[in-house]
Amino acid sequence: MEPLYEGKAKRLWATDDPGVLRMEFKNDATAFNGEKKAQFEEKGRLNNAISNRIYALLEKEGIRTHFVREIDETNVEVRKVEIIMVEVIVRNLAAGSFCKRTGVEEGRAFSAPVIEFSIKSDELGDPLVNDDYIRELRLATPEELQHLRTAALKVNDLLSDFFSRCGLRLVDFKLEFGRLKDEPGTIVLADEISPDGCRLWDLETGEKMDKDRFRRDLGGVMEAYREVLARVERATGG
Ligand code: UDP
Repeated sequence: MEPLYEGKAKRLWATDDPGVLRMEFKNDATAFNGEKKAQFEEKGRLNNAISNRIYALLEKEGIRTHFVREIDETNVEVRKVEIIMVEVIVRNLAAGSFCKRTGVEEGRAFSAPVIEFSIKSDELGDPLVNDDYIRELRLATPEELQHLRTAALKVNDLLSDFFSRCGLRLVDFKLEFGRLKDEPGTIVLADEISPDGCRLWDLETGEKMDKDRFRRDLGGVMEAYREVLARVERATGG
């Protein structure tokens, strides 16, 4: 059997239910738009476990997500969606491309969350765009974009609070959304929420506990992800 889709970190498979897919987390890690590559034995398992716990928590807080149920260590059932080709990034502290673009030092706290949008396109290198670009490229309607913004801010509030209970600072993160195939007009959170797409800093030591360990060759990549999972499990009751 062939996957319906294979991306850099996940594969999507059909199930018996046309409205449901199986999402498989791979052990592949990539950075800098796929230029840097590696394999980490446990990454699929850790991200699946972390993401599923976070999605269950968000669902409990009234955020609609694609999450259905965890199947096993590296597989989860998700609702079938048409992915909106806009990446929504929320920033609480300056880091990564924000610093590169502006010259601001890493770690500066913002007075309010910074939201930005980029086109989900490896070919174009995920270019930063604004609302008008998104409208004219017909990636999302203005109403949909407003929904993404509101949902992203709510997710930021919930996750900032949740991660602080894990002793972690949510520095920034990327969200993806999709339109439910079998429920037209409904947008849900899709993709994953894991240390691959979030910057998480230890609240006490400031240590980086996310994919920056891989991007910057800091070592201890899976040790950090394992520690994030352990704290997430503790905070969600095991
Ligand atoms: N991010 C992501 N996928 C992308 C781009 C960014 O998951 O294609 C995440 C990244 O891990 C970080 C946040 O979004 O937590 C902000 O990333 P940034 O724009 O600083 O880009 P980076 O410098 O990490 O490529």
